[in-house]
Amino acid sequence: MLVDKVDDQYTVQLTDVAYGDLPAGDVTVEIEYSTLNYKDSLAITGASPVVRRFPMVPGIDFAGTVFESESEEYAVGDSVVLNGWGVGEVHWGGYAEQARVESEWLVPLPSAFTTRQAMAIGTAGYTAMLCVLALEDHGIRPESGPVLVTGATGGVGSVAVAVLSRLGYDVLTVTGKADEHDYLHRLGARDVIDRAQLSEPGRPLGKELWAAAVDTVGSHTLANVLASTMYGGTVAACGLAQGMDLPSTVMPFILRGVTLAGIDSVNCPRPRRLEAWDRLSRDLDVCLLEAMSTEVSLEDVLDLASRQLGGELTGRTIVKVKS
Ligand code: NDP
Repeated sequence: MLVDKVDDQYTVQLTDVAYGDLPAGDVTVEIEYSTLNYKDSLAITGASPVVRRFPMVPGIDFAGTVFESESEEYAVGDSVVLNGWGVGEVHWGGYAEQARVESEWLVPLPSAFTTRQAMAIGTAGYTAMLCVLALEDHGIRPESGPVLVTGATGGVGSVAVAVLSRLGYDVLTVTGKADEHDYLHRLGARDVIDRAQLSEPGRPLGKELWAAAVDTVGSHTLANVLASTMYGGTVAACGLAQGMDLPSTVMPFILRGVTLAGIDSVNCPRPRRLEAWDRLSRDLDVCLLEAMSTEVSLEDVLDLASRQLGGELTGRTIVKVKS
């Protein structure tokens, strides 16, 4: 898949590209699966300037097998995963049968997962685990109190709910999808809150309702999440599905000692990535992972991208790049 922009005209097409035209890198990977992340949908639709070099192969993550290697770390035939590092934004990404990348961007496929499962998790799931690690770093434990997940039926949200519930947390969820409450209960949510209760401007401080949160939507929702976080609690903020603004006050921080932990998956250091993937191997139920995933083709992605930005998709979308 090639995204291009000429004279402000944004185009997306499926096309053939010569092997020799792949960008520089010391490892070439035969891609088996990629995924549809929120950022991919922004890149495909051009709704936000995610792509910073044209023409671009989108796809911020992939899993596959090493096809050619000049790296001592990876041999031909090794299974690998890539998340972020600007792939699909400034370096050709995962929506192709092959990708040439720098070896330090890759991580070995965890033995617990197939390449398909690794992409069912994808950058969304790996980010969900980065959020859980951040909560733990700040002392949050199941006995601390309930943990809230916003954008709960989305990719990051679904994996966060499944992992937190498996770890023994009392999980509260926020969704705009009235018909997906059963889905969230199946992932392990105790309760479901209507998105409308948190998405409008609120008070600087509210009742203390949760000890921690994983927020994937930003804007008024994040402000309201902070306002109802218990004394000493932590909110891991990773997303902007409602908006990139944060119309909040300092009150939750200076009166309740709340911590706002920022989560970035793109440039996250390698040791933390390995830790996140290792924890996913142990703390994510692969049966639930299957239940939250849908497999689509590269052609399907063209339609799905705008539906994702409209908040219509549930769970994770695996992209099989070879037809
Ligand atoms: P999805 O599209 O899968 O999920 C987003 C969810 O947000 C939707 O399913 C919906 O859930 C909710 N939502 C959508 N629109 C709105 C709205 N206007 N107001 C409130 N809630 C809304 O995306 P992902 O889970 O893949 O990503 C979630 C966010 O996290 C994105 O903003 C993405 O850019 C960000 N992200 C950040 C990363 C990082 O490194 N910091 C890495 C990965 C993702 P529901 O219907 O249940 O309310």
